[in-house]
Amino acid sequence: MLTTNPFDDDKLREECGIFGVSNADGAAALVALGLHALQHRGQEAAGISSFDGALFHTHRAMGHVAGNFDRPEVIEALPGRVAAGHVRYSTTGETALRNVQPLYADLATGGFAIAHNGNISNAAHLRRELVRSGSIFQSTSDTETIIHLVATSSYRTLLDRFIDALKQVEGAYSLICLTESGMIACRDPLGIRPLVIGRLGDSVIFASETVALDVVGAEFVRSVDPGELVIVEGDKVTSVRPFAPVAARPCIFEWVYFSRPDSIAEDRSVYSVRKAIGAQLADESPVDADLVIPVPDSGTPAALGYAQRSGIPFELGIIRSHYVGRTFIQPGDKVRHLGVKLKHNANRALIQGKRVVLIDDSIVRGTTSLKIVQMMREAGAAEVHMRIASPPTRHSCFYGVDTPERAKLLAAQLDVGGMTDFIHADSLAFISIDGLYKALGEAGRAAVRPRYCDACFTGDYPTPLTDCDERAAGQLELLAE
Ligand code: SF4
Repeated sequence: MLTTNPFDDDKLREECGIFGVSNADGAAALVALGLHALQHRGQEAAGISSFDGALFHTHRAMGHVAGNFDRPEVIEALPGRVAAGHVRYSTTGETALRNVQPLYADLATGGFAIAHNGNISNAAHLRRELVRSGSIFQSTSDTETIIHLVATSSYRTLLDRFIDALKQVEGAYSLICLTESGMIACRDPLGIRPLVIGRLGDSVIFASETVALDVVGAEFVRSVDPGELVIVEGDKVTSVRPFAPVAARPCIFEWVYFSRPDSIAEDRSVYSVRKAIGAQLADESPVDADLVIPVPDSGTPAALGYAQRSGIPFELGIIRSHYVGRTFIQPGDKVRHLGVKLKHNANRALIQGKRVVLIDDSIVRGTTSLKIVQMMREAGAAEVHMRIASPPTRHSCFYGVDTPERAKLLAAQLDVGGMTDFIHADSLAFISIDGLYKALGEAGRAAVRPRYCDACFTGDYPTPLTDCDERAAGQLELLAE
């Protein structure tokens, strides 16, 4: 099996998207549409649960939303006016159907289905304690920890048990839960992962991004506040904030790369922020060149911003084929090597003899950047400069984003000069962390305290990392995670 998409494979990957609908006939069909719009947040598996007033129904499958949830018989088997769904790239837990969400359990308080975007950074620690006291886990997902904490809580009502459970977990979680009385949606106290509320007639909708509200024709109401639980029962919507208030730290990388550019995050247009990042990058790291070229597709808004600020023409110097699947079976090495060009190819007639500035959103391992620079040189570029719309990624993410271990992050191993040599560019520059904050309308990181989680750039993790610490101390060896 050959991966024909080397550009996408050297990216940090958002690992989940969630979508929930309450108080709507055919809720599962709307959830399927919403998940379609969130497919970029996870492509390995998808699932939907519904509640019909008497029974819970769940369909979970490996693969894309299309192909699984565009079949009428699948949607018809998910009846009810409340439904929630999940798209997944593997986070904690191996890729297997048993880890695909929503996860469901019959609790003393009734049925409970949960869809989670984020990652619990003390899940292994909690799991060890729960297993010691008799809990029997069905999956290796960190999310199941929350279910067991709810199940074993000594509080009486489901809401109190749920709050009790959340007070024990660390890390990042945006959750949509189905209960027998409706739906509960919440964000962790720091609001690390996004979650928004929409309205469609009498229906309340929750989604990871506003783009999913657009797709079902819902109106964006607001973001769920960090630390807020929104409870929907029929047409009644209430809200509780059970955590001690702390300053929010939403993931800054949502603006750089994860969210779709047509989404609104924390009242900002993701597209506009990406253009502002490009403009800031042009101010910080100008270069004498003939063309600004985006690395498709994620580098495009920042490249537009860079081109408009610098006055250098924006051109599509790398063309992406939209007809090549993620993998492509090839028998021999020679053909396999050619396969990478199926997805992206240099626009040779444009590039020949030109000094080009390539704009990409990030460098992770550096393998992609190396291939792109090589592709430009083979197409006859006179000079190849690379500008990156995020600071160097030097640290792993423990909040629901797939990052290689630190040793594999190019920026954790080399300084910018070393990275320039590694990718064979004529020059390489990253936006500064202060510049990134400025593009988000802030005075700079130090001026506002870190208002975002930016740990993959700074190493400043906003929560304890209990599992990491215990693993480093050799205390988690008993766990099958
Ligand atoms: Fe986002 Fe990076 Fe923080 Fe992870 S570590 S939540 S990717 S800013």
